[in-house]
Amino acid sequence: METVSVPPPEVQNVPLEAASPFEMRVHLGEGVPETDVRTALKTGDLGFLHSFTTGSAVDGPGIRLVAWTTACMFRCKFCHNPDTWTLKNGIPTTLESAVQEVRKYSNGLKAMGGGFTLSGGEPLMQDRFAARLFAAVKQMGVHTAIETNGYYGDHLTDDEIRNIDLVILDMKAFSREQHQRVTGMSNNDEILFFCNRLAELKRPMWFRYVLVPGLTDVPEEMEGVARFAASLGVVERAEVLPFHQLGRYKWERLGIRYELEETQPPSADSVAEAVDIFRAAGLDAD
Ligand code: SF4
Repeated sequence: METVSVPPPEVQNVPLEAASPFEMRVHLGEGVPETDVRTALKTGDLGFLHSFTTGSAVDGPGIRLVAWTTACMFRCKFCHNPDTWTLKNGIPTTLESAVQEVRKYSNGLKAMGGGFTLSGGEPLMQDRFAARLFAAVKQMGVHTAIETNGYYGDHLTDDEIRNIDLVILDMKAFSREQHQRVTGMSNNDEILFFCNRLAELKRPMWFRYVLVPGLTDVPEEMEGVARFAASLGVVERAEVLPFHQLGRYKWERLGIRYELEETQPPSADSVAEAVDIFRAAGLDAD
C-alpha cells in the first residue's frame, strides 16, 4: 500500500492556525517529494493547507472553524488569496492532524450552533482529503460546509456529498463568455451539472456572487445566476459579496499582474441593486 511520509506539525515554524486567511503563505509544501504529492492526492492521507482560522461568522451558519486548502483551477481576477492557487504553497498536513484540529474545537462549535467549513483555494482539488475529512467531522456530530466553485463536484460520490451539510457555491458568472473573462476558463457546464445533482440529492446550498464594478456587475449575468439558483429549489440563501482590495498586496508580492488595481468597492446602491436581482428571482438574498 502506498503511504506518504508524515511531515512535522509545523513547517518552518509556521503554525497551522492563522489569524486570518489574508496572511500571505508560500512555498510551505515544497519539501514534499512529487511521488508523495501524487499519493497524497490519490489517498487523502495528506492535505496541503494554507491554514486553519477560528471564529469566522461569514463562512456558513454560526461560528465556524475554517480550513483553507491550497490549489485552484481558476484564476479569478478578483481572487483575494492568490497564494492559495498553488498546492505546494500550503502546509503539508496529515488527515489525522487535520481531524485532530477540528476535534479540539468540536464541543465549542456544537455549543455555538456553528461548525466546520472547508474553503480554499478550491477544496475539491484535494477531493480525497476533503471527502475523508468531512466523513470524520460528520462522525463528531459537527455541522459541515464547503465553499467551492463547483468545478470538480463530480469528484465526490453521492455518499460523500451527504457528509456535507451545506454547499456554498461561489458562482462567478452564468455565460461561458463571462466565465472566461472572470476566471480564465470558459467551461462552466460541470458547475451547473454539480448544482443540479445537489438539487436532486436535496442538499442545502447557499449561492455567492462577488460584485466587482466593471467586471461582474452585469445585470444579465446576475439574472442568469439568480434564476438558475432559484430553479434548483435547494438554495436557502444568496449572498452578494462586495469586492474589496484586502488581497491586493498578495498579487503584488507574488509578482502577478493585477488587473483590478484601480477598481473600487461597489457603492451601497449597486450592492442593493444586485441583491434585488436575486430577490426578484425568489431567493432569500442579502
Ligand atoms: S475560485 Fe476562489 S480561490 Fe480560485 S481563483 Fe477564484 S476566487 Fe481564487
